[in-house]
Amino acid sequence: MRVLALNCGSSSVKSALLDTSSGRRLQEVHAENVGSDLDSAVDLLLAPYRADQGAIEAVAHRIVHGGEKFVEPVRLDDAVLAEIEQLSHLAPLHNPPALAAIQHARAALPGLPHFAVFDTAFHSTLPDHAREYALPADVRRRYGIRRFGFHGINHSHVARSVAAHLEIDPQKLRIISCHLGNGASVTAIEQGRSVDTSMGMTPLEGLVMGTRAGDVDPGVLLQLQRSDDLDADELDDLLNKRSGLKGLTGTNDMREIEQRANAGDQDCVLAIDMYVHRVRKYIGAYAVAMGGVDVIAFTAGVGEHSALIRRRCLERLEFICAVLDPTRNDSAKLSTEHPIANLGAPSSRVHLLAVRADEELAMARAAASALGK
Ligand code: ADP
Repeated sequence: MRVLALNCGSSSVKSALLDTSSGRRLQEVHAENVGSDLDSAVDLLLAPYRADQGAIEAVAHRIVHGGEKFVEPVRLDDAVLAEIEQLSHLAPLHNPPALAAIQHARAALPGLPHFAVFDTAFHSTLPDHAREYALPADVRRRYGIRRFGFHGINHSHVARSVAAHLEIDPQKLRIISCHLGNGASVTAIEQGRSVDTSMGMTPLEGLVMGTRAGDVDPGVLLQLQRSDDLDADELDDLLNKRSGLKGLTGTNDMREIEQRANAGDQDCVLAIDMYVHRVRKYIGAYAVAMGGVDVIAFTAGVGEHSALIRRRCLERLEFICAVLDPTRNDSAKLSTEHPIANLGAPSSRVHLLAVRADEELAMARAAASALGK
């Protein structure tokens, strides 16, 4: 089936026309730094399809936050859109531009079924003990406070691809999926289901990211509010945009940080040490939570391309029989034709893999299965 996937970020839009059975990309366009010009970017991306809607059977849209309600892909109509709009406060940077793009796409391609695929949905299987924060029950209920988790479209894609690649039933695998992009999260996947993940109620929790701090003692925020008079918007800006790698080194580009660390820049050395330490803590925690681990997979910009970060994240894991092969790790090159690379030594019991992130394919397949094809 041919599905057009439209993946709208806070500053970029990607569109890809995919054949869901072969997984092949028939056409692909990226628009970066679209800022306030999102509408015209979407118009431009859809122009080739407008004249020839017969070339496509469905359109899949990525929505970051599906809240409590949307735990699987849903066919879009006005009522569903209104419901999704009500969730915008949960993801103010991401949901509104995606909704605007959907309105545009529905107007441009009115004859086609449109589906929303949610980044939170894969984590709807989190068990209570991984989902809840230890806050009073009435506070949690009143404000809908709980962990949701994100990057679910790609984490589920990783789980499926890994199982297919290894030819092992997903029910029999315990996978730790490390999505290390500009945003970053680790997910523990047992029997094909997300059982814990490092992002929480919002994407702020967990790993050191490009511009987000990840885990911080909440007491620090109280301290900043009290002693520096920072209000909610200022804290939001600090934690979301000025922290993480950017806050530690001045840039969120891991390539530059690696080069500067090599040249002796101590801020960059520390940033890499902290980044890796945090990933390792989650790998350890999730291996214990699942009673073991069969696969550790690295995906997204840093996970796919940085042999150094992968090597550092996997150091001293011989005690769980996870052994990296340095040559395989250094020479791993992912592409559409070779979306998975084996990084493990022959003696490694745990499969160590790099997996090409492919949100568009996962979205397209989700829409196809929602259509029953
Ligand atoms: P997003 O979350 O915006 O989709 P990506 O998954 O594209 O981000 O990841 C972006 C990150 O990947 C950046 O920090 C970038 O520096 C890093 N990256 C890309 N290529 C490399 C590389 N060869 N080595 C190290 N880091 C890389």
